[in-house]
Amino acid sequence: MKKHNFYAGPAILPQSVLNQAADSIQNFSNMDLSLLEISHRSKQFEAVMDESRALIHELMDINNDYDILFMGGGASSQFFMVPMNLLKDDESASYVNTGTWASGAIKEAKLFGKVNVLASSEEDHFTYIPKGYTIPQDSAYLHLTSNNTIYGSQYHEFPKCPIPLICDMSSDIFSRRLDFSNFDLIYAGAQKNLGPAGVTLVVIKKNLLERSGRKLPTMLNYKSYSDKGSMYNTPPVFPIYVTMLTLRWIKESGGLIKIEERNRIKAEYLYQEIDRNSCFRGTVAHPDRSWMNVVFVPTKEEYESRFIEACKEAGCVGLAGHRSVGGFRASLYNALDLSSVQVLVEVMKEFEKRNA
Ligand SMILES: *Cc1c(COP(=O)(O)O)cnc(C)c1O
Repeated sequence: MKKHNFYAGPAILPQSVLNQAADSIQNFSNMDLSLLEISHRSKQFEAVMDESRALIHELMDINNDYDILFMGGGASSQFFMVPMNLLKDDESASYVNTGTWASGAIKEAKLFGKVNVLASSEEDHFTYIPKGYTIPQDSAYLHLTSNNTIYGSQYHEFPKCPIPLICDMSSDIFSRRLDFSNFDLIYAGAQKNLGPAGVTLVVIKKNLLERSGRKLPTMLNYKSYSDKGSMYNTPPVFPIYVTMLTLRWIKESGGLIKIEERNRIKAEYLYQEIDRNSCFRGTVAHPDRSWMNVVFVPTKEEYESRFIEACKEAGCVGLAGHRSVGGFRASLYNALDLSSVQVLVEVMKEFEKRNA
């Protein structure tokens, strides 16, 4: 049975990417060897690193002031690597708390300096994106989380920022056009919209390397990755290769203009049904609704398990809300086709007919 994959992460990847990834495990780059058993210093793998970096520069439309780094440890390791590398002991860093992941980043930053939480939507269960706060000029940087994977809110406009702007884009990286040159450091765990778990992308403005002046272990210093082309040690070769295939797919699909258009259409289609259907209710303030993770709840408790069951029968999987939130979450990442959203909407309509 055809499965419609709405998992929040690790998440859906394009079928063509999976096919090529599978081939590479048997025979990589006509070497008659698996990608998994060759040197990361081979010219064939060097080509993967080069192409990945070039595609990111091209898709983000950023210049050589930025370095592209690949590392392990997940986005969660960036929660401490950012302050460790950027924040001096006697400085403060500014954060906006928009949910679980932002809170995680705040917690880790406190290990390295003072933290100003400029705004938080916690008192309202993270159902909106705070706006209208003042950004202190003397803060080392401002850290935002562009898309809140668990609560389903997303920045559709970023504040004008007079200090370096750092953004966790784990769950909406390459999902839309942005002026990426407004950001000074962007990071993303690959497993939501880019590739398999195991690699984290860091795009950093070179002038931020070694900013903190702190003595750091080699593997926790951005500079080491920058100096060695992310090959100080063995990089996560397979996740990087699959990420490169996804980047190629994005480019071949028409780049971020087309990807954004598709994502907007999918999200609007689903939100329209949530707003129309008497069995469901969206939880996030309309202007801040995420195009990537659509969070909604049943209007009667008894609908919850029944709806998940109805989804399963139609092949729609991964729709249970995060364990901390409940309800439902439909993740509509780049690789999810509109036809899958249409199947889900049909299930919702049918559900209303039978239950309401
Ligand atoms: C999933 C997620 C993380 C955590 O990523 P890991 O790679 O598992 O550490 C952090 N931030 C956001 C926005 C996420 O969606």
